[in-house]
Amino acid sequence: MDDENRVFRPGAVVYEGSQISYAGSPDGYQGPLEQEIVVPDGILLPGLLNGHNHAAMSLMRGMADDSPFFEWLTQHVWPVENRLTAEDIRVGSLLAAAEMIRSGTVGFADMYFEVEATAEAIATAGMRAWISRGLVGLEDPEGEKLNQAVAFARDWQGKAEGRIVTMLGPHAPYTCPPEYLERVAEAAKLAGVGIHIHLSESADEMKQLQERYQRTPVQLASEAGIFASRTLIAHGVFIGEEDLPYLQGMTGGVITCPVSNAKLGNGILPYAMLKEAHIPVGLGTDGATSTNSLDMFLEMKAMAWLQKIAEGRPEGFHAAEALWAATRGTAEVLGHPGGRIAEGAPADFIVVDGNQAHMTPEWDVVANLVYSAVGSDVRYVVINGRIVLQEGIITTFDEAEVIREAKARGERLMREGAKH
Ligand SMILES: [Zn+2]
Repeated sequence: MDDENRVFRPGAVVYEGSQISYAGSPDGYQGPLEQEIVVPDGILLPGLLNGHNHAAMSLMRGMADDSPFFEWLTQHVWPVENRLTAEDIRVGSLLAAAEMIRSGTVGFADMYFEVEATAEAIATAGMRAWISRGLVGLEDPEGEKLNQAVAFARDWQGKAEGRIVTMLGPHAPYTCPPEYLERVAEAAKLAGVGIHIHLSESADEMKQLQERYQRTPVQLASEAGIFASRTLIAHGVFIGEEDLPYLQGMTGGVITCPVSNAKLGNGILPYAMLKEAHIPVGLGTDGATSTNSLDMFLEMKAMAWLQKIAEGRPEGFHAAEALWAATRGTAEVLGHPGGRIAEGAPADFIVVDGNQAHMTPEWDVVANLVYSAVGSDVRYVVINGRIVLQEGIITTFDEAEVIREAKARGERLMREGAKH
């Protein structure tokens, strides 16, 4: 996965500090090595980039699944979210980090609250994160939360050796009226940060905004000036032809979350249309409360399956496109130089164990990675030149302790929930 998508057998990657200094055949490198790790049957590829998450929602995994969306959100998720402490969010973020690292994710874009707790957790975990405080305009008439979000964005920008990038996160046009979106757009421009927003996720949202403003979510965002800054659009299921003129001039792109979209019964991203219009498409999981799993290998499968269903033909979407979305695609949306293996690229890569029954034989390495591999096949994860997963063991924090704590906190939240 260099710029020409070459596959080397055997292959070697050399990195120095936080950058890849060589990638290719082992014979092609003659320089010194401080340490050498050989992984027989290992498949080395860029670390996966999860373009849309609410990491701390891992503490609510499996809560009220299979109920109607607005009932699920207003009667189950919101009451529990109101009781989450900063410490819950720190532990929930670490729980998500453990799951993400184990399944080969090196960085993710996050939107939530108590974002300092998430930022601290991620600094500890050794991952990359694009963090934004979620903003609900309807609950922020004075703009106090927007001010806090901007302060966070300024304070944490580039922290943790540059692994943390901050953004502003207006939740969506149905929770943020146009005037509020305008204020966020202005603040993002002033602070020089990108914007992370949910757009065109459900049929209900489209109907609501059409009735209220006679606009699509993309048109509303564009008119409010959101696209003047780099913008990460989460979901985009209902983006239509009429939205393309607004999207074509923007920096950023769309992150598709196929498992979440399927599980909530929302629909399928119009990927072919966006591809034709040269709008970058990346891949994300959404929070574990809606998706249950943060495994990007599962997400790649779901993207491929759903796009093939949408196209009505197997050749309508290729495995390499799913792998691209999970690496370069998300990187392009975020404006990040990663998602590829090449000299000068960030030293962010993973090694998948190819010596397993479900990976044998290997007619096509990309097909095996997308259609056969699962997250637990990942053996090594290197982020910013640091080994974060070594032979299946997380090196940056005590995973067993985090699981114990998360269980206890989850049980407390369930007990408190029963009192309501
Ligand atoms: Zn979301």
